[in-house]
Amino acid sequence: MKTKKSIINLSEKGCLEMIEKARWKDGVFCPYCKSKEVVKNGWDESDGVKVQKHKCKHCEKTFNVKTKTIFENSKVPLQKWFTMIALLGTNTILFLSEFLNIAYSNAYRMAKKIRSVISTEEGKRTLHGDIELEIDEMYISSGRKGEKNLDRAPRKRGK
Ligand SMILES: [Zn+2]
Repeated sequence: MKTKKSIINLSEKGCLEMIEKARWKDGVFCPYCKSKEVVKNGWDESDGVKVQKHKCKHCEKTFNVKTKTIFENSKVPLQKWFTMIALLGTNTILFLSEFLNIAYSNAYRMAKKIRSVISTEEGKRTLHGDIELEIDEMYISSGRKGEKNLDRAPRKRGK
């Protein structure tokens, strides 16, 4: 499991690899018809980073790892999405929009998407693996907001 810090420091490529690992841990499959009969089909560089494209032999649609996820068709880099996912539970959208240097309306839409998938089965399929662990952690901590952490041992001061 990755820590929040290592998630935030991931490169764009690292983020892609993380989604790939989580989503396709049992092999690449078509997000439209779930067929595993797929072939590599060039690269998509429209988002500024090379993304492997695949083509389904069954339904003949092309796709990449972001297809049918909340990250699809977003101009916001994955790195910012991941940071948002990691920090959403304990920060306001206003803070995150400033921290990530994105428009508030954009941050608001992202937060809404992230929150909408957290509680659904589809979301668990889309955002699982390490990312899901982060989300679970975030979900738990945001659910406990306001609760005083009385059972935590007091931090020792000095040496
Ligand atoms: Zn297909």
